[in-house]
Amino acid sequence: MSPHDSSARTGRATRLLHAGAPALRGGSGPVNVPVVRTSTVRFENSAAYAEHHHRRSAGERLATYGRHGLDTHRALEDAVTALEGGHRAFLTPSGLSAITLVLVALLSPGDHALVADSVYSPVRRVDDTLLQRLGITLEYFSPSQDDLAAKIRPNTRLIYLESPSSLLYEVLDLPALSAIARAHGIPVATDNTWSGGWFYQPLALGANISIHAATKYISGHSDVMQGIVVTDSAALSAKIALAYEALGLTVGADDAYLALRGVRTLPVRLAQHQRHATQVAQWLLAQPQVSRVFYPALPSDPGHALWQRDFSGASGLVSFAFEDGVDARIAEAFVDALTFFGIGASWGGYESLALVAAPERVREHSFWSGTQPVVRLHIGLEDPQDLIADLQQAFARVGQQQELAEA
Ligand SMILES: *Cc1c(COP(=O)(O)O)cnc(C)c1O
Repeated sequence: MSPHDSSARTGRATRLLHAGAPALRGGSGPVNVPVVRTSTVRFENSAAYAEHHHRRSAGERLATYGRHGLDTHRALEDAVTALEGGHRAFLTPSGLSAITLVLVALLSPGDHALVADSVYSPVRRVDDTLLQRLGITLEYFSPSQDDLAAKIRPNTRLIYLESPSSLLYEVLDLPALSAIARAHGIPVATDNTWSGGWFYQPLALGANISIHAATKYISGHSDVMQGIVVTDSAALSAKIALAYEALGLTVGADDAYLALRGVRTLPVRLAQHQRHATQVAQWLLAQPQVSRVFYPALPSDPGHALWQRDFSGASGLVSFAFEDGVDARIAEAFVDALTFFGIGASWGGYESLALVAAPERVREHSFWSGTQPVVRLHIGLEDPQDLIADLQQAFARVGQQQELAEA
């Protein structure tokens, strides 16, 4: 078997590990693709220059200039395309720029798009600051409660989703939502950052575009910013390619290499994040100061049945709501009392992080109407008993503060 065999019978991990491996030259070669740093491409003669440009304009994925990215970029694109079972991947400088690329590529003045109200909230900033100025209307809907078909207008050109959602991990019925979109000829784009592309394959479940903040699990080491857009068809790839070129998007070869190095170990890292996060989530369920744990792998989570049907695992993200009567100050004191958790945004690296979710962000989600403070934890690869002990001492600390306040 050729190491580049990508037949459907080959396992997903095998395909992920071998996609984009450099060919041997003269009988040998490195395991990894070199970091090809270049701002331009040289040609043997003018005829070769013209021929390459011609082939590129005809749609061939070929670099004629540094911005198009060479071997390193190609290897990462191939690995993520294999991971998602897609047609083509596009690398962008951040996850947010990957989202904006898709919105700008597929929407024109006068168009309308339906957006799940639980998506990564900076999407709303793209809407407010850019899309509205372009005469594009985004409408937010509840992916679990609203009837998507009834919300579709004649000018609806995109359905934009994220599953599980940001902050509260609402699991969407992607096959059902995609079937409605397909019946109306509307493409579905979905943010797949939560699963890194390993535990969830949205393109196989009916979505047409899968978007990643590769900053998170794909890179996995908190050392690179990157976004990736994966399409399911040549027609969508052509549309995305036009906007990608027009916006001049690219990533540096060093960053592409870091993401490629990260993605090769995605399956083992995620398996461990899942093991640790499940232990923490189960422990949180039993804490008297916790009223709700958000983690789809828990049988008590409302998304559990859909998660079991459509996903093959859960990530390291666990959120929880405090009990009634706990205010934001106590939640912040809880996070401040943690020692092994960094306080900060983002997630998907090897390390644990904690943050009090902004109440206005939580309120955007129709999925949950609670008003108690929510803490988002990213459960890293530390020993889970240390993380649990850390959480325990933080609960004890704020429990004392609460008692003093109530006394
Ligand atoms: C972090 C994140 C993004 C944005 O990625 P950046 O690389 O930080 O721009 C997009 N979607 C989701 C779900 C995220 O968590």
